[in-house]
Amino acid sequence: MDLAYSKEDEAFRKTVRTWLKTNVPKKDKTLSDLPPNDPQRIQRAKDWQRRLYEAGYVALGWPKAYGGQGDTDIMRQTIVNEELVLARAPGLIGASGLTMLGPTLLQVGSEEQKRRYLPKVLTAEEIWCQGYSEPGSGSDLASLRTKAELVGDEFIVNGQKVWTSGAQFSDWMFCLVRTDPDAPKHRGISYILIDMKTPGITVRPLVQMTGDAGFNEVFFEDVRVPRENLVGELNQGWLVANATLFHERNMLGSTTRTQLMLQNLIRLARSHSRYGQPAAEDPTIRQQLADLTTRVEAMKYHSFRQLTDATKGRKPGIGAMVNKLVGTELNHDICALALEIMNSYAPLNRRASHVIDNGIWPYEFMFTLGLIIGGGTSQIQKNIISERGLGMPKSR
Ligand SMILES: Cc1cc2nc3c(=O)[nH]c(=O)nc-3n(C[C@H](O)[C@H](O)[C@H](O)COP(=O)(O)OP(=O)(O)OC[C@H]3O[C@@H](n4cnc5c(N)ncnc54)[C@H](O)[C@@H]3O)c2cc1C
Repeated sequence: MDLAYSKEDEAFRKTVRTWLKTNVPKKDKTLSDLPPNDPQRIQRAKDWQRRLYEAGYVALGWPKAYGGQGDTDIMRQTIVNEELVLARAPGLIGASGLTMLGPTLLQVGSEEQKRRYLPKVLTAEEIWCQGYSEPGSGSDLASLRTKAELVGDEFIVNGQKVWTSGAQFSDWMFCLVRTDPDAPKHRGISYILIDMKTPGITVRPLVQMTGDAGFNEVFFEDVRVPRENLVGELNQGWLVANATLFHERNMLGSTTRTQLMLQNLIRLARSHSRYGQPAAEDPTIRQQLADLTTRVEAMKYHSFRQLTDATKGRKPGIGAMVNKLVGTELNHDICALALEIMNSYAPLNRRASHVIDNGIWPYEFMFTLGLIIGGGTSQIQKNIISERGLGMPKSR
C-alpha cells in the first residue's frame, strides 16, 4: 500500500479544488424549500452535472468515442470524487446512469448502444432509473416476475417494479424482465432498456419516512419495447446485471463523506450540553465517539487497500461488498449518536425555531437507514462476504 500522492496528483487536486471553489452551485433557499422532485430543482441538478462534465470531471475513465475523457488514471478519478465531497458539491442526478448502466454498456453493450446512450448519460440529457426490485422480489431478485414476451421485433412488457428511485423524473429505465418463464429462475431473465415515455407505463411516487418521495411504484401494461433495446443475449440478463455487481463505487469519495460526518458529530458533541457539561465530556458519549472514530479509521485504510488494488489493475472483488456493509452502517450509527446527544431536540424538523444543524441529523438518520437496505441489505452483504469471501457454507 502506497499512502503518498505524487506531485502530479497534488497539482491536479489543486486545479480541481480551484475549479470547484468558483463553480459549485450556491445554496438557494427558495429552491431547497421546494420538494426534491420539483422541475426547477431537477433542472438545476442537470445543469450542475453538465457543467461538471464540460469541465472534464465526470466519468473520467470512459472512452473518448462515447463522450468520456479517456483518462484511465484511477488516482485522478479518485481525487475528483474526494474533492467533490470536500467542496460539499451536490450529488449527481445522473448517478444511476453513471455508476450502473454506463459500466454495464461499456462491458456488454453493442457498439450502437454505447454510441446512442453513453454521451447523454454523461451530460445528464437523459436520466436513468434501475428497474430491478418487485413486490416479493428484492433480496431474492432472481424470482422477479415482470414478463416480457418477444412478439416479432418487440417485447411486450407486463408487470410491476417497486422502490424505483427517481423513476418520476427519469427518461429511461434499465430493467430486468422474465423472458423465459419455463427456464430455471436465473436463466430466464433479460436486461432491456425502456423509454419511460412509452404508452402503458404508470409511475406512482412513494413517500418515505423522511417526507420525500425518493422512489416509486412502476406499472407496465402491454408496454412495447424494440428488440434492439436488449443488452447482451436473450435470457442472459442475470449475467449482464452481475457483470458490474462488483464495480468499484466511488470508494474514497464515500470514505471522505463518512469522515466529514464524524467531524460534524464531534463538533456537535463539543457544542451541545448534556447534564450540565458539553456532551463530549460525558464518559459514555466519549466511549462511543472513540468507537466510531476507530471504525472510520479502519474504513479509511480499507479504502486505501482497495485503491491500491485498483491502481495495480486488480479487481475489487469482495472488498466492495465490505465497503457497502461497513460504510452504510457506520453512517447510520454516526447519526444515531448525534440524536442521542441532541436528546429532546432530536425530533425537531428544520422549520422549528430551536432546531440544531438545520435538522440534518434526524433526516440523515432516516435516509441512511434506507441505504443499509438499498442495493442489497446488510444481511445479504454478510451472506455474500461469508460465502464468497471466507468460503463458508451457503446459508439456507
Ligand atoms: C433507499 C432505497 C432505494 C432503492 N432504490 C431502488 C432502485 O432504484 N431500483 C430497484 O430496483 N430497487 C431499489 N431499492 C430496493 C432494494 O434493492 C430492496 O429493498 C432490497 O434489495 C431488499 O429487498 P426487499 O425490500 O424486497 O426486502 P426482502 O428481500 O423482503 O428482505 C426483508 C428482510 O429479510 C432479510 N433477508 C432476506 N433474505 C435473506 C437471506 N437470504 N438471509 C438473511 N436475511 C435475509 C433482509 O436482509 C431484510 O432485512 C431501493 C431500496 C431502498 C431502501
